[in-house]
Amino acid sequence: MDERLYLVKEGEIALKGGNRIMFERKLRGNIRSKLKPYQSRMDKSKGRVYVSVEDSCPREQAEKALSTTFGITGWAESERCREKSMEAIMEKTEEILSRNPFSSQGSFKIDVRREDKSFPLDSHAVACALADIVEKYYPSLRVDLKNPDYTLTVEIRNQCFVYTDSRKGIGGLPVGTAGRGMLLLSGGIDSPVAGYTMAKRGLKLDCCYFHAYPYTSEMALEKVKKLASLISPYLQGTRLFVVPFTKGQEYIRDHGVEEEATLMFRAAMMKTAEKLSLLYHDIALVTGEAVSQVASQTLDAMTFTDSMTDMLILRPLCGMDKEEIIKVAKDIDTYDTSILPYEDCCVVFSPKHPVTRPDKKIMKEHFEALHMDALINEAVENTVIYTFSDQGIEEGKSGVRKAEDGEN
Ligand code: ATP
Ligand code: MG
Repeated sequence: MDERLYLVKEGEIALKGGNRIMFERKLRGNIRSKLKPYQSRMDKSKGRVYVSVEDSCPREQAEKALSTTFGITGWAESERCREKSMEAIMEKTEEILSRNPFSSQGSFKIDVRREDKSFPLDSHAVACALADIVEKYYPSLRVDLKNPDYTLTVEIRNQCFVYTDSRKGIGGLPVGTAGRGMLLLSGGIDSPVAGYTMAKRGLKLDCCYFHAYPYTSEMALEKVKKLASLISPYLQGTRLFVVPFTKGQEYIRDHGVEEEATLMFRAAMMKTAEKLSLLYHDIALVTGEAVSQVASQTLDAMTFTDSMTDMLILRPLCGMDKEEIIKVAKDIDTYDTSILPYEDCCVVFSPKHPVTRPDKKIMKEHFEALHMDALINEAVENTVIYTFSDQGIEEGKSGVRKAEDGEN
């Protein structure tokens, strides 16, 4: 088959010891699944994966695949030299430059990575020979080793490769290498960033959203679905569990202490998310909380919500300020959706003067006195599942009764 070649650089995986093979295998599988339905082949070499994909695969798809896959620190569409020799490298360089990849003004650099130390010429000698060729094609370009506009890279490994357009990857570890988690996804700025951040450490994530229709509108649900679809490529696909929680919210409003409503709701959310996690084999909860961002995110408040479940709760944004979170949200393209003005249910039911220094013991007693088990079970049973994958969204399957085996 006619194919294009991408040289993919592994980051942290290269530092792994005995279990490195597991990480590499996961990375190749994650890339391959995003290149479907096109045929691809992955060959590995020290610190690199050579990804060959059918020529008919649109560049856009291949580029999106590589730029949304965790475990990749850099990649470039590359060309293989016909043999491992200086003549072949020069020949390939001429061929690439004759297609005019740079513009005539600005600066350039030759970057030589000589992984095979037995290659007869050293990096400097290779760079000098290639600089002469660049000068022939681009007489006005000047050399700038620090901040070049253009870089021609040569990698001398078991084979030789030349490329002119190297891109940065998103780093991290391949999704699926660190176990499964459940992201509590609201419509705000923080939780999609929290999901992205934990997927970056290799977690495979499901998402759950607590919907209080009609207090929160269909548009609020559409917004959360949109957010799930935007983070889905980074998560290697995901499922969104939409939990109907209107009755639970109303019950807390009508039977609880007003100032404690937000925290009681959060406690009920944790309990419900825990139940869903048990059904779907997720072993950690992930939230978008950051210390002191709002009243329900003080240390005392988080101590209380932690005590509601035995599960590990990961709060990757805990030490970040809003500016930092917004920057990531913009990078991953969720920001514009997150700021759409549809109210989240926490906000709709918020008390005017929420408690900020709750006492864990007293709050637990108050929560237990509400006897919410039946309402929580009902909410779990009526949860609707949406599945997001590279092929798009599969619309709501309702009824969570038993975990479907062998998924994801
Ligand atoms: P976000 O910007 O993600 O909405 P936030 O700063 O608005 O977060 P809160 O509304 O207090 O803060 O929620 C804190 C975290 O609790 C969220 O980041 C999310 O993980 C979870 N959460 C809140 N509301 C919901 C909901 N309706 N469904 C699912 N998770 C929720
Ligand atoms: Mg919110």
